[in-house]
Amino acid sequence: MGLVPTLGALHEGHLSLVRTAKACCDAVAVSIFVNPTQFGPNEDFALYPRTFDADCALLAGEDIDVVFAPAPEEIYRAGAATFVEVEGLSQRLDGASRPGHFRGVATIVAKLFIAAEPDRAFFGQKDAAQIAVLRRMIFDLGLPVELVVCPIVRESDGLAMSSRNRYLSQQERQQALVLRRSLDAVQAAIAAGERNSETLIATARSILASEPEVRIDYVAAADWATLLPVDQALPGTLFAVAAWVGKTRLIDNMIIQ
Ligand code: AMP
Repeated sequence: MGLVPTLGALHEGHLSLVRTAKACCDAVAVSIFVNPTQFGPNEDFALYPRTFDADCALLAGEDIDVVFAPAPEEIYRAGAATFVEVEGLSQRLDGASRPGHFRGVATIVAKLFIAAEPDRAFFGQKDAAQIAVLRRMIFDLGLPVELVVCPIVRESDGLAMSSRNRYLSQQERQQALVLRRSLDAVQAAIAAGERNSETLIATARSILASEPEVRIDYVAAADWATLLPVDQALPGTLFAVAAWVGKTRLIDNMIIQ
């Protein structure tokens, strides 16, 4: 049994997870749930695209077994006092900019695991810090679930697919390409022999700064397991960027070879 947890507003990135799950599981469930506890008070919970009918139409083409789209009150009991907190990790990278986000993510994923009892759960490398948090949760709690990481799916011009891309104006959509360009520049520097994290971070920052409308949230070279900064970007290092394009916060990353 494979589980693909999503917030809905499905795109090819989500479908790649579904297809990977189909290829290695007897049965596949996709959950669609805009999880309120992973959104901060000033974030886009109310605005988040809810496209249930279109999502079902896309999933109808994938021959999956279950769509689980609960109402919030089916998931959260009134006055619930129990949450899953992966300490330390949850405060790093996206967790530093989005207090409480990873507590909400860990809690909902744990609850989905309890509800669905999957053998495998499929997540995208796009949300690399989320992978680290969930891996640690699975390990610490001894959950009988294998976490499968799937590669980042991109638009033809390189922008990482995201449900939030639909917030972007035409102009912002062009500006957003700078995230991928910053990673490409880091990749080129590494190919030329540079491994110093500070230098690589400066390289990415200078590319991001070339789009004046884009505001950097973070640029980091981190150990993918601990999300702590590393001095040298060696193979396996997570190189991640997060930036605001207008009112939309976008993320992208690569694992250094
Ligand atoms: P979301 O609906 O944004 O919570 O995403 C649900 C799952 O799809 C998460 O595991 C994401 O990492 C994954 N995902 C989102 N965008 C992409 C993408 N462009 N490529 C691969 N996986 C993705």
